[in-house]
Order: sequence, then C-alpha cells, then structure tokens
Amino acid sequence: MCHWRRVRNTYRLCGHMYDLADEMIQCDDRHCKFSSTHPSTCVPPACTTTCWQYRQFPDQYNPFIDSLCPACTQQGR
Ligand SMILES: [Zn+2]
Ligand SMILES: [Zn+2]
Ligand SMILES: [Zn+2]
Repeated sequence: MCHWRRVRNTYRLCGHMYDLADEMIQCDDRHCKFSSTHPSTCVPPACTTTCWQYRQFPDQYNPFIDSLCPACTQQGR
C-alpha cells in the first residue's frame, strides 16, 4: 500500500542533520484506496472493508553520509 518515505541525512563530518522532502511511494495494489489500479467501482461501504483506507506509517531512512553538509561545505570548513 502507499506510504510516505521520509529521509533524514546525517553528515558524519559535521554532525548536521537534514530532512529531505517527503516522497510519496505509490503501490499498484488494487486493494489500496490510493492506488491507480483501485477499481473506481469500489466505493464505501464495501471499500472500507476490503481496501486500505489509510496510507501506512512513513518509512524512515536515516542514511549517514561521510562528508560535510552542504551548508558547511559552502562555508569552506
Ligand atoms: Zn497503495
Ligand atoms: Zn476499494
Ligand atoms: Zn554541517
């Protein structure tokens, strides 16, 4: 089912953290209300019992990057 992806980059060399813009991850599950393959004929109340009505809790990614953050790079530290 569809969900948001939330990415927070952590830059090792300066320790700063940056949140990236949330990204919508689409699925093609017909049992997902937000999916493009969800049948238009599937409507409540049936839909509420067979299909996902909510997006899943966001995936969290916390990659560590072996460099300075962009701001610190600009300051030439
Ligand atoms: Zn979905
Ligand atoms: Zn449905
Ligand atoms: Zn920094």
